[in-house]
Amino acid sequence: MYSDITSAQFQLEEPHVQFKEPHAGRFAPSPTGDFHLGNLRTAILAWAFARHAGLDFLIRMEDLDERSRPQYVTRQLHDLEEIGITWDGPVIYQSRRMPIYAEIFTDMMRQGLLYECYCTRKELAAVTSAPHRPPGSYPGTCRDLTDRERDAGRAKLASMDRGPAMRLRTDGHDLTVVDELAGPYTGAVDDLVIRRGDGVYSYNFVSVVDDALQGIAQVVRGDDLLPSTPRQVYLQRLLAAPTPKYIHVPLALNTRKVRLAKRDGAVTLRALRECGWSSGDVVELIGQSLGILGARRAGDIETHLEAAKLACGPWIVDTALLEKGPRTILRESE
Ligand code: GLU
Repeated sequence: MYSDITSAQFQLEEPHVQFKEPHAGRFAPSPTGDFHLGNLRTAILAWAFARHAGLDFLIRMEDLDERSRPQYVTRQLHDLEEIGITWDGPVIYQSRRMPIYAEIFTDMMRQGLLYECYCTRKELAAVTSAPHRPPGSYPGTCRDLTDRERDAGRAKLASMDRGPAMRLRTDGHDLTVVDELAGPYTGAVDDLVIRRGDGVYSYNFVSVVDDALQGIAQVVRGDDLLPSTPRQVYLQRLLAAPTPKYIHVPLALNTRKVRLAKRDGAVTLRALRECGWSSGDVVELIGQSLGILGARRAGDIETHLEAAKLACGPWIVDTALLEKGPRTILRESE
């Protein structure tokens, strides 16, 4: 069931920021490393779905993660160009948008929607979620503390040189989102963090704010983020922001069925090139994982998007085979 939260609950006071009419798809990578095949497949699909729907396509660098590095921004953008992905307008960097987040955060504070949380990571890891809640959801420990308990919490964190995290007081109900690939997905909406104890705004918060400010009509991303989507939709409704269409695509996995990572071997464009792969070969491999043969540029996947949608499941990548070069793998399927 949708929760019945209404936009009337929150209103930006004297807003300097304005949400845009939904008009675009987007790809929002974190520049914390080179893209691997799974990231590239998601990027191609995000681009293809946006173009197929006649939408603009925007790139947003989610660089609030402390592992972000400028050289990865350059290399990620370069890789996207290499495989035929084009985007509209300038790339947006979250690290340059603090005043925008601060404005919305301050209004949320003023309207009493947030509360201080003094739980440390260790304490949170130790509490097991209630049986019907997904792992990691917040049990509400600091939601209704007395003044004295709050003072004790602040003192505890001060001794660790930290401040409290700020959490959103939600209604705690489950919320259902309808994903174009996964279908209806019901998930818990817990009291999510809006600003962390170190002062960094949370992924859920900035992502929802930016989707609204950038006019995002369609979100295509890895299905590891599907469990976060009910929280994000809750936040959208609170901020009176439109809910985009969601298309969560299955991840690339290694042969042990664990999410693909760089340590699995030659999985980045750079590493594959050293094994004899051109960017066209890599697109062809990605196309093959989506049931499309002979695709050499992102545009070829867009042309066959309906087929790709049907064939889009988890992708098992055998890096030992990739390291032998493109011939064996690409020929096998011809
Ligand atoms: N920055 C996130 C990632 O790289 C994606 C977030 C999103 O698409 O909402 O996994």
